[in-house]
Amino acid sequence: MKSVTVLGSTGSIGTNTLAVLDLHRAQFRVFALAAHHNADKLFSQCLAFQPAYAVLGEAQAALALQHRLRAAGCATEVLCGPAALEQVASAPEVDLVMAAIVGAAGLAASLAAARAGKRLLLANKESLVVAGDLLLQALEQGGGTLIPIDSEHSAILQSLPTDRSRWQVDVRNIVLTASGGPFRQRAPHSLHEVTPQEACAHPNWSMGAKISVDSATMMNKALEVIEAHYLFGMQPQQIEVLIHPQSIVHSMVNYLDGSVLAQLGQPDMRTPIAYGLSYPARMASGAPWLDLARVGRLDFEQPDPQRFPGLGLAFEALRMPTGACTVLNAANEVAVDAFLQRRIRFTDIHRINADLLGAAECAGCDSLGALAELDAQTRRQAQQRVAHYAA
Ligand code: NAD
Ligand code: MG
Repeated sequence: MKSVTVLGSTGSIGTNTLAVLDLHRAQFRVFALAAHHNADKLFSQCLAFQPAYAVLGEAQAALALQHRLRAAGCATEVLCGPAALEQVASAPEVDLVMAAIVGAAGLAASLAAARAGKRLLLANKESLVVAGDLLLQALEQGGGTLIPIDSEHSAILQSLPTDRSRWQVDVRNIVLTASGGPFRQRAPHSLHEVTPQEACAHPNWSMGAKISVDSATMMNKALEVIEAHYLFGMQPQQIEVLIHPQSIVHSMVNYLDGSVLAQLGQPDMRTPIAYGLSYPARMASGAPWLDLARVGRLDFEQPDPQRFPGLGLAFEALRMPTGACTVLNAANEVAVDAFLQRRIRFTDIHRINADLLGAAECAGCDSLGALAELDAQTRRQAQQRVAHYAA
């Protein structure tokens, strides 16, 4: 019996994780569930999975949830705040931690799980983007393993040799596929009119708001390029991005002999989640089977840099000193949030990201403290740009 902590349990990945765990109650038990604000959903999840701990962001809400759970006869203990996230991510009882908080807010708990030697199932790509070297170091020191949950990186892991020492020897490059999001064919000159609702209407995947907007700008793929660099030790020139509107081929590996290995499946996050939980074995995920005759055709095209200028920022950031990726991520989080609040236009997101990456002063920002300061400083600068564009 393996014990699992699910951070971000009320979100899209968290909910899918619990759906997979529900199919395998004899193999996994839930140790802790954590969410930010959604107490009602966390309450139902606690009743369904009876975890030892539940975590909410704020003290008052945590207290109220504790009373509700007691009244319902549920023994779950409710904690609150960032320290509690780290506590339930690193507790000795825990074997696996699903890191599915959105944004850099997930970093501290990912690091805590890594230091404690857990199997870290990483959906929270921002953890690797913000502090990739430090997270890998923590994993090495703690003796933990990192399994990507992002569908592209799960596909790459499944398509790479199981012997990691062959990765740099046998592989020519890796190809991350991207659906192109809702605006793949929209006229670039009309992108400034896009609403949050349009940006969040992804054609293939149902996801949280932030990653949906990132998919529409293709900043999601930019973050995934950086994620792939850290996960697989690939240099920027070894990482290619290809648009594949059907989201059936989840990514591929080009080998030196001309072979291409890919992982295919329905666009359903339960597949990479189940793979992460059962790795290296396989178990049922609840995702529907892939019927290629029904899909009919698979298309591929190069991403258009004019329509998706954000993608290039990842390659730029990877060629800059450590810290540039932290700046890019912080700028993007603030800009996306401002767009979702209708304070800035869709096209301002890229302007803010490009401005702040261009102005980044990040040489020597290697420690966690320095990166945290850089992150905070970038957020302040990004807020100033938001105010400027919103005016
Ligand atoms: P979401 O917005 O649906 O859920 C986010 C979760 O994080 C919620 O449970 C929320 O309560 C929690 N949370 C937010 N801020 C928090 C904070 N400050 N402290 C503690 N908890 C906090 O997001 P999602 O779509 O599930 O994405 C989660 C992560 O997984 C993101 O990093 C995203 O890039 C990644 N991811 C998501 C998908 C997908 O299909 N949704 C696919 C690949 C990767
Ligand atoms: Mg992805």
